[in-house]
Amino acid sequence: MLPMKLKRYQDIIAFEELQSNSQPRYIAFHANNLEIAEISAEAFQEMSAIDVRTGEIPQDTLPKDAEAFEQLQTWNSEVNHEARQGKINFGIRSLTINVTQVCNLKCTYCAAGGDGTYGDPVTRISIEKTLPQLKYFIEALPAGRKFTISFVGGEPLLYPEGIKAIYDYVTEIAAHKNIQPVFSVTTNATVITDKVLDIFKKINIHVTVSLDGDKNVNDVLRPTRSGTGSTEMTLDGLKKLHSIKNHLGSLGISGVFNEAHQNIIDSYRFFLTLDPDWVEFNFAYSQNNQDLQAKYIDQMSQIAGLAWQKGEETALRKIKTFDHYFTLLDNQQKIENHCGAGKSFLMMDAKNQLYTCPWVVGDPDEVVGQGLTLNMEKLEKYQKPLITLNNCQTCWARYLCGGGCMYIHKAHTGSKHTKDNLFCERTRSLILTALLYYIKARAA
Ligand code: SF4
Ligand code: SF4
Repeated sequence: MLPMKLKRYQDIIAFEELQSNSQPRYIAFHANNLEIAEISAEAFQEMSAIDVRTGEIPQDTLPKDAEAFEQLQTWNSEVNHEARQGKINFGIRSLTINVTQVCNLKCTYCAAGGDGTYGDPVTRISIEKTLPQLKYFIEALPAGRKFTISFVGGEPLLYPEGIKAIYDYVTEIAAHKNIQPVFSVTTNATVITDKVLDIFKKINIHVTVSLDGDKNVNDVLRPTRSGTGSTEMTLDGLKKLHSIKNHLGSLGISGVFNEAHQNIIDSYRFFLTLDPDWVEFNFAYSQNNQDLQAKYIDQMSQIAGLAWQKGEETALRKIKTFDHYFTLLDNQQKIENHCGAGKSFLMMDAKNQLYTCPWVVGDPDEVVGQGLTLNMEKLEKYQKPLITLNNCQTCWARYLCGGGCMYIHKAHTGSKHTKDNLFCERTRSLILTALLYYIKARAA
C-alpha cells in the first residue's frame, strides 16, 4: 500500500513506515542525490504534508525543533558526488524499426491505424534502403558502444527474413567497428513458425510478447482480423519460444491496463504460470480517467505486494517498472530524459522515414529524416534535457522519471512539453511504491 502520510522539505520527501514491532520509523528520499535514509521523528515533524502524488514544494513553515530542522537543511544542501548525471548527448544508439506495417490481429486499442498499417499502403520495410541507413548510424558511433535495434510492427514476425537480413548485416559491420549490437522484438507471438525459431536460435534476441491476460480477457482485446480469439495462438507461440529459451536474450510479457481490462492482478497471476523473465503492465496511453488510474495505481501496488510475498526482491524485479527504479537507485544514476527521443533514439517506418518516437509514425510533421538525411534543425529542438524542457525542476521524482513521455503529454495537453497531470501522478505513485520496497530490500 502507498503511505498515507507523505511529507516534504525542499528536495527531501519522507513517509512513516510501521515496523513489524508496530513502532514507526521515518524514511526519507533525497530527490537530487538519489539517497535514502532513516530520519528522526523530530525531523519528520519539521516537514510539511503533501498529497501522496503531488510534485509541489510546500511553503516553508517556521521551525519547531531547531536541531532537527538544521539536520534537514544540512542534508538537503549536501551534494552526492557519487550520483551520476543523466545528460544525453546527441548520437543515435538505439533505433526502432517498423519491419512490417501490417498485422494479423486487430487489437481494440491499436495505435497503428487498427491494423498495424498507420493507414499507409507500404506494409514492409525495404531491406535495400534500410541497410545503408543502419551503416550510417553505426559508423557515426565511437568504438565500444552498444547499438540497440528493436523490431516492431504491425507484427514484425510476418517478415522474419527482414529481421535476419538486418541482423546479418549489422552484426558484420558492427564487428569491424567494435560496436556491440543488441536486438529485441515486440511480437504478438501468433506466428512463431519453424523459420522464426531457426532465426531466433541464431540471433540472441530479447523477445517481448504482447498479451493482456487469459483467454477471457485477451480474446476480447486482441482478436484476429477475422474476429476470432488470438490467445491460443499466442500461448502456443510462448511455448515454442520457451523451447528455445536458452538461445534468447530474454523473454518478457507486456500487458495493457485500460477501460476494457481493469484487473491486472489476475493477469499478473496468469502471466506467472507462463514463466516469463519479466512482465509489465502499461496504463493505456489514451486513457484520461482519474478513477481508472486510481485502480491501476492500487493494483500495481498490490502486485508489488504479491511479488514481494512470493520472492522478495527477485520476484519484485521481474516486474519491469520496479526493476527499472531499483537499477537507477542502485547505480545512483539520475535520468534527465524519460527517453532518448531525438537524442539517442530514432524510429524508422516501413518507408525509411525517421521519427523521434514510435507513436508519431504517419504524421508528416513529425518526420525528422529520410534515408541518410537527418533534419538537424528539427532535431535541435529535442536536445535539451526533458526535465528542463518540461519544467520538472521542482518535482521530487524528476531524476527517476526524467520529464515524462512527450507523446502522452501531447496527447492530453496538446503540447509535448506541457505535463499531463495524470501521467505525473501515476509515475510518482509507481516510484513511491518502488521506494517502499527498495528500502525493505536494502535494509535487509
Ligand atoms: S513529468 Fe515526471 S519529472 Fe516531470 S513533473 Fe511529471 S512526474 Fe515529475
Ligand atoms: S516520447 Fe514517449 S512514447 Fe515516444 S519514445 Fe519517448 S517514452 Fe516512448
